[in-house]
Amino acid sequence: MHHPRHAYVHVPFCRHRCGYCDFTLVAGRDDLIERYLAALAIELARVSEPLEIATLYLGGGTPSHLGPGGLRKLFALLRERLVPAAGAEVTVEANPLDVTGDFVAVCRDLGITRVSLGGQSLDAATLRSLDRDHVPDDVRRAVSLLLEAGLVASLDLMTAAPGQTLVGVEADLAAAVALGVQHVSVYCLTWERGTAFESARRRGDLVPAEESLEQAMFETAIDRLEAAGFEHYEVSNFARPGFRCRHNEAYWDCRPWEAFGPGAARFDGRTRTTNHRSTTTWIRKTLAGEDATGDVDAMTDEQAARERIVVGLRRGDGLDREAFRVQTGFPLETLAGAAVERWVAAGLAVDDGRHVRLTRGGLLVSDGLWADVLT
Ligand code: SF4
Repeated sequence: MHHPRHAYVHVPFCRHRCGYCDFTLVAGRDDLIERYLAALAIELARVSEPLEIATLYLGGGTPSHLGPGGLRKLFALLRERLVPAAGAEVTVEANPLDVTGDFVAVCRDLGITRVSLGGQSLDAATLRSLDRDHVPDDVRRAVSLLLEAGLVASLDLMTAAPGQTLVGVEADLAAAVALGVQHVSVYCLTWERGTAFESARRRGDLVPAEESLEQAMFETAIDRLEAAGFEHYEVSNFARPGFRCRHNEAYWDCRPWEAFGPGAARFDGRTRTTNHRSTTTWIRKTLAGEDATGDVDAMTDEQAARERIVVGLRRGDGLDREAFRVQTGFPLETLAGAAVERWVAAGLAVDDGRHVRLTRGGLLVSDGLWADVLT
């Protein structure tokens, strides 16, 4: 088995928990940061030899919430075990409010190459409806600081927010293009169990967007960003040429990756191992020298191959039949021949004999297709 060349680190701290968010994090618990770093140092020691890595991704939560000093401490720990190769992509997720002159200077200093900004919208009302604590000017200021410092800027945008209109989404897309970011991720708001938004929906206080509006917003995102020169390279992701997120591409290629921190899932090519999802439990167990693993999902060859179909079809490049057979040992026909035929007949996929790709219609309903191949 090859050593992983990709690593994810979960930083579970936020200033406040946004009403729609069900990620692994604690809000307003900065008192835990020191213990988290101590636990992370212990988990990193799980890797016996330093790994030379091509991509490193710090997600959360809000890694930028650690501040310049906290990031320095974190990178000092990471360096013991994760050694970025020359030209490595090193991404940090950031809240626009945390992006200051000091922050970008520290990013440069630490070898961070890319910042993924949780902007969500450039409309004040939409940001309020999403329970975010920043305003549009914070996003603009953050993007210019990042670009001026020579960092690659990726902007997250949200669609189907409560009260958001199609015109609002168009304006957000135009603003993202005008800001000059190299990468945009567009996510449709989801209503997760246990969130404040979901309770408000059940009480009738918040109303989800109609499905037809959701789809129109997604199609508008594709149209506008493609027209502006972005490549739609995965269902939710758009990049200017040369600026795809290499870390996510490694996930979608099903390459092995390491992962550290609460709720972080690592993959050795066959088994996905997820750390305990509660931040406090993960810290306590790790510091006590106990096993802080949550779920272990060991896939059979066939299950791993079926997963590969799903991640492959989410990508603009689609699935290459021959590469799939070489990588998995299964002909695509055996696992998904009937499903692909059905999708092609319904106009949801195209199949030129070598590649199978979803059409725009297929991408719109892609989440509903996977049950056909994951059986
Ligand atoms: S800032 Fe991001 S990770 Fe933190 S609560 Fe809000 S949506 Fe979730």
